[in-house]
Amino acid sequence: MRLQSRALVWRAIHLPQRRTLCGKSKEYDIVIVGGGLVGASLCAGLVQSQLPCKIALVEPNLQRLLSNSKEKSGEAVPLRTSTINPASQQWLKKLKIWELLDSQEVAAFARMKVWDSTSGSSLVFHASEVGMESLGFVVANDDLLRGCYQRLQRSLQSTQSQIDFFDSGVDDFHWYFSQSGFTKWPRLVLKDQNELHGRVVVAADGSNSTTRKSANIPWFSHYYQQRAVVLTVRTEKLHRTAWQRFLSTGPIALLPMAGVNISNVVWSTTELEASILCSASKETLVKELNNAFLGAVNLHKDSDTEEYPPSISEILRGPASFPLYLGHASEYVKERLVLVGDAAHSVHPLAGQGVNLGFADAQCLVELFENAWMTGRDFGELSLLLQYQRKRLPKNLLMLAALHSLETFFSFQFGPVSFIRGLGMSLLGGLIPAKKAIIDFASGKI
Ligand SMILES: Cc1cc2nc3c(=O)[nH]c(=O)nc-3n(C[C@H](O)[C@H](O)[C@H](O)COP(=O)(O)OP(=O)(O)OC[C@H]3O[C@@H](n4cnc5c(N)ncnc54)[C@H](O)[C@@H]3O)c2cc1C
Repeated sequence: MRLQSRALVWRAIHLPQRRTLCGKSKEYDIVIVGGGLVGASLCAGLVQSQLPCKIALVEPNLQRLLSNSKEKSGEAVPLRTSTINPASQQWLKKLKIWELLDSQEVAAFARMKVWDSTSGSSLVFHASEVGMESLGFVVANDDLLRGCYQRLQRSLQSTQSQIDFFDSGVDDFHWYFSQSGFTKWPRLVLKDQNELHGRVVVAADGSNSTTRKSANIPWFSHYYQQRAVVLTVRTEKLHRTAWQRFLSTGPIALLPMAGVNISNVVWSTTELEASILCSASKETLVKELNNAFLGAVNLHKDSDTEEYPPSISEILRGPASFPLYLGHASEYVKERLVLVGDAAHSVHPLAGQGVNLGFADAQCLVELFENAWMTGRDFGELSLLLQYQRKRLPKNLLMLAALHSLETFFSFQFGPVSFIRGLGMSLLGGLIPAKKAIIDFASGKI
């Protein structure tokens, strides 16, 4: 069947329910609540797949995101970055978002060194050891978001989908869950008084998701009693390694950014240390950072750049700090509702996986909706949405458990545990198949 006629049939079967809609009441096939990285990439994915459907994107910071041009953000170096794994890069390439990032915005790294401050043991991952070009890419969140919204704006002319943007938050949700499987469409009342009815509502509104809460989906949460202190720094030498040192208080990472000798630091530490760091002078911070990465090592000009991270010479942006939680929803779907990204799961940033899991959710959902359209199914059908849950929940849970175990394992300072940890890291260092398995897992291949 040709695409045009397939679209007509799909519309005829799934015509919006007839009801009298008052002035500002509108009907959509898909309502996405939250236009952060995951919601915006999902919207770009739906638009690119040319589904002939009506989509609403609801985001309270939409105006800022749509007009987020490089020129407006000025000269300041970015503060928040994400480590993008190769699977997410492929997805962003497919959406033609990756091509909107220029070489000044993406820093690839082909090497990663992880070491333990207690035992001194280390583990080095090389992309070449496992036949890859890079292990990942560090990109500023603002640049990624700009790419998503530019893609959306450029696609508006050439898509079969119709997108309406709502620069507002949701004030009130009305769900009509029932056992019969034929629930009425949910009704969302926005802060700007618009009323949206959606065949399916996608909650992409972050870990504090009001959409999830309004639908009474239980959320398991664990506070690490830690905050991530984030800074952008200048290093004395250029480096292309992602460094991560496990300190007794938590991990600290130095990630190469695009630009000359610029890196991003994510230092997960106790609340007390985070507040001390955030109120310290820049000179003190530089000292503290070098001490955290290098300890007693005194770097000389000719120090081995493979062995130690470069020393930090200047704070360019930050610090800012963020509380660290592990969180997971007990279910990802209900009739006419689906959770994606941090609204469904929130992980410790120690392996830079959060948004990568969210992109994988979005990709899975786009494929599901494409199949539903081809087979004439209603996007909001629970049995359809359960397919998404069956695919994504076990994978996300596995990553969540792995990251939590890693965090816990490295937080033990008890002698025998740190000895075993050191031994394990040394043994693993020589086992290429084991390292390949770890890299595949972190790259989103498994
Ligand atoms: C310090 C730190 C470092 C990190 N580093 C990495 C990394 O290197 N790699 C990685 O993969 N992940 C990383 N993460 C995790 C990553 O930032 C998150 O997983 C990701 O941002 C989640 O994206 P999201 O779109 O699901 O949610 P969010 O980014 O939280 O976006 C939610 C959106 O919903 C909107 N919203 C909220 N409420 C409403 C409402 N009621 N109505 C409408 N809209 C609403 C918000 O305005 C926001 O735009 C890190 C996290 C932290 C804290």
